Amino acid sequence: MSLESDALSPAELQRYARHLSLPDVGLDGQRRLKRARILLVGAGGLGSPAALYLAAAGVGHLGVVDFDVVAASNLQRQILHGTGDIARRKTDSARDRLYDVNPHVRVETYDERLTARNALEVVREYDLVVDGTDNFATRYLTNDACVLLGRPNVYASVSRFEGQATVFATADGPCYRCLYPEPPPPGSVLSCAEGGVLGVLPGLLGTIQATEAIKLITGIGESLAGRLLLVDAARMHFRTVQLRRDPACPACGTREITELVDYDAFCGDVSSASSSGAAHDDADDADDGVPEITPRELAAKLARGDSLDLLDVREPYEHQLARIPGARLLPLGTFALAVPSLDPAREVVVLCHHGVRSAAAAEYLQSRGFRRVSSLAGGINRWSDEVDPGVPKY
Ligand SMILES: [Zn+2]
Repeated sequence: MSLESDALSPAELQRYARHLSLPDVGLDGQRRLKRARILLVGAGGLGSPAALYLAAAGVGHLGVVDFDVVAASNLQRQILHGTGDIARRKTDSARDRLYDVNPHVRVETYDERLTARNALEVVREYDLVVDGTDNFATRYLTNDACVLLGRPNVYASVSRFEGQATVFATADGPCYRCLYPEPPPPGSVLSCAEGGVLGVLPGLLGTIQATEAIKLITGIGESLAGRLLLVDAARMHFRTVQLRRDPACPACGTREITELVDYDAFCGDVSSASSSGAAHDDADDADDGVPEITPRELAAKLARGDSLDLLDVREPYEHQLARIPGARLLPLGTFALAVPSLDPAREVVVLCHHGVRSAAAAEYLQSRGFRRVSSLAGGINRWSDEVDPGVPKY
């Protein structure tokens, strides 16, 4: 980048006055923003507020990857797009909106799916990536491309009333695979069992992503790298848990991942997997016909000493935060691999945070011939309310 290109015109000096008078940004920070190149993977629920704020802040080059078209059901949360944009390419709609927000920025669009073939080529052109994807295939791909190229990956995800955010793939911080080493087995629908999402929630998390991106570019403050921010909008609780780089991580630890792989078989139906923002509505199938057990019923069984397998399908960090004694941790992502080691004759109770993932896991067990399966209604969250308040809520 040449020196002249970060000079600010009188119009820009006027526009960014509130940054220029902020000691931590100032002229130097504003020039850094102008020189910066940020790639937004997904112009959906998370990508929308992130892109709007990054454009408004004066980030000089924004790349937007999305292969989708705007649908009416997107507008509840994807605020880059308007009613008049329905049926347009999201990249076209995003470009128009961002130029309207700030004509001084340059917007490059990629109207295609990020794949193993093009990801390195695209990501290489940028200083950092804002991951606004809603599917595992693109999330692993984005992570691996960022680790291979040494680009920070500003990550967030949302489901229902909850979200999480962090910064992956910094020089010494953890990456997505440090948390979730391997994708779920191909064809497994389990990992896609998510419900709806409160429209404002990706707005909140996407804005946090924009904040982290601006901090990284300008060098302000302390980044979220090494910490996972957990947001519970229903209770309006924010907390962070420490994350560490895993020396055994196949991406940033052992570095055995040296090239990209397309993981598109994850959710069974690849065509429904979009790189745009928020969660899918695949949960309906999973919720049907799975017997539930209430926390009090389960507590009674455990108190009686009934013989049962209690399986916790949450992630290891969630298990650290709160657990039910006697429950065995089998995270949903690798659950299918562990099923052959289970006894189909025994009673099985599956639990998770709120009961969505456990319903999917219980249904999977039923499909594998398990007859005495139930899902803990309301998950460990309701257990804490109704059985043991000593189990922390998160
Ligand atoms: Zn890693």
